[in-house]
Amino acid sequence: MGVEMVLFERAPAKINLSLDVLGKREDGFHEVEMIMTSVDLADRVELYDINDDKIEVSTDNQYVPNDEGNLAYKAALAFKNTYRLHRGIRINIQKNIPVSAGLGGGSSDAAAVLRGLNRMWSVGVSQAELVEFSSELGSDVPFCITGNTALGTGHGEKIRTLPSPPPCYIVLAKPDIGISTRHIFPRVNMDTIPHPDTEAVIQSLEEKDFDKLCQHSGNALEDVTFPLYPEVKQIRDKMLETGASGALMSGSGPTVAGLTRHFSKAKRIYNGLRGFCNEVYIVQLLDRR
Ligand code: ATP
Repeated sequence: MGVEMVLFERAPAKINLSLDVLGKREDGFHEVEMIMTSVDLADRVELYDINDDKIEVSTDNQYVPNDEGNLAYKAALAFKNTYRLHRGIRINIQKNIPVSAGLGGGSSDAAAVLRGLNRMWSVGVSQAELVEFSSELGSDVPFCITGNTALGTGHGEKIRTLPSPPPCYIVLAKPDIGISTRHIFPRVNMDTIPHPDTEAVIQSLEEKDFDKLCQHSGNALEDVTFPLYPEVKQIRDKMLETGASGALMSGSGPTVAGLTRHFSKAKRIYNGLRGFCNEVYIVQLLDRR
C-alpha cells in the first residue's frame, strides 16, 4: 500500500477574549457571543494519501481517540461524503494543545483536516463555504477555519473577522482537571449570569487599546465553572496578583489566559503558577494577517 505524506497543517489553540451567553434556543443550543483569537501553541496535523477508500487516524496522546470518535476523523468523513470523494487518508496528529482544556484543540484539528484535504485534493471549496459546512462538527470549528481574531455568534457558526489585539504575551495555565463544555452549559442560569461588554472589547481591538481590552475582557461561563472548580478562580486571581493586566478563563475552562505586554511580567506570572499547575505556557498571538 503506497503511503506518502502529502502535507501538514498547523492547528493552533484558541483563547477567548470574551464569551457571553445570550439565551437558550429552542434547538437546545445556547446563543453565544464570543471573541476568539489564535495563539502559537499548535498541534501538528499530518495528512498522508493512502490507496484504500478509508480514513485512518492516530495520535500521540492517550486521552484522544484513535478512531471515528476523533473530531479530525469526523471532519474527514463529512468532507468526503459531502464532496463525494472516494479517496483514502491517514491522519496523524501530534498533540501539543492540552485536551479538554477550553483551548479548542479537537476543533482546531478538525479545521486543519478540512483546510488540508481541500488543498491536497484540489476540491476548491471557498473559505466561507468551509466555515458554514464545519459548524455541523462543533461550535468552535468555524472559527478554527479562519483563525486570527473573530467574533462568533449564533452557536459559534457566524464568524465576523476582527482586528488583531495589540502584541502581548499570554500565560496559559491549566490545572490538572479536564472540563467538557457539555458539562457546563446546562448549568448556566440565565437570570443571574453576568454579561461581559462585548462591544467594548470590539472597540478596544479597533482602537488597539490593550488596557481597555484587559478591562473589558470577560467570560460569562466563569460563573458556572468557578464554583464547581475553585482552583480555576485561584489561578485567575494569582495571575492578576503577579502582574497580569487581564486574566480570564478560556471557553468553559479550565485553562486561564493571563495577558501582559511585557515578557518579564509573563515570566513572573509563569513562575508563580508552576508548582500550582503542571501545565503552564507562555504563548503569543498567532495572526497570519
Ligand atoms: P470541548 O469544550 O468541546 O470539550 P475543548 O477544547 O475543551 O473542547 P478538546 O481538547 O477539543 O477540548 O477535547 C474535548 C474532547 O474531545 C475530549 O474528550 C477528547 O477525547 C475528544 N477529542 C476528539 N478528537 C479530539 C482531538 N483531535 N483532539 C483533542 N480531543 C479530541
